Amino acid sequence: MAQDGRRERRGWFWRQGNEPQPFSPISLAKHSRLRGAVAVNSVCPYCAVGCAQLAYVKDGQCVDIEGDPRSPINEGTLCPKGANTFQLVHNPHRQQRVLYRAPLSDHWEERPLDWAMTRIAQLTKETRDATFVDKDTDGDIIRHTTAMGHLGGATLDNEENYLIKKLFNTIGMVSIENQARI
Ligand code: SF4
Repeated sequence: MAQDGRRERRGWFWRQGNEPQPFSPISLAKHSRLRGAVAVNSVCPYCAVGCAQLAYVKDGQCVDIEGDPRSPINEGTLCPKGANTFQLVHNPHRQQRVLYRAPLSDHWEERPLDWAMTRIAQLTKETRDATFVDKDTDGDIIRHTTAMGHLGGATLDNEENYLIKKLFNTIGMVSIENQARI
């Protein structure tokens, strides 16, 4: 305790009575994690409710994702899953490399993304060519293949699903589905 009645504590002090209290330099240095971040409009990737989000970006990194209060859908709220969208962006368990398991192999191998994209395209083309049916047994034109399908994940948005549906319908794919909750 200092002689004039001020109490010292970790380099700062406050006075008894009605005098204005000084602030701790530590408190003054504290600020919102969103200070200086740019708010980018976004939509929750998880379900068809389509809650609006604000993704805060600082120095090229997403630092937070919150509900957008301007949205008439969610008015700033997010359900527990949507409120954890940030963990989708920053997640140490997220797989970021292409892993390939060859036929009959018992282990995974790392491969470049370009290699994987090319292989998927080649197999899609081969399968389509080998199984495409132009007409059914009655002679009616059907032009499809039932040998492959496409299942989209919940993080696909409307625009991506639109393009997926259009692309795979064009090559004759019939089974096209998207996993989403509502
Ligand atoms: S998962 Fe939750 S926050 Fe995301 S769109 Fe659906 S209801 Fe909204």
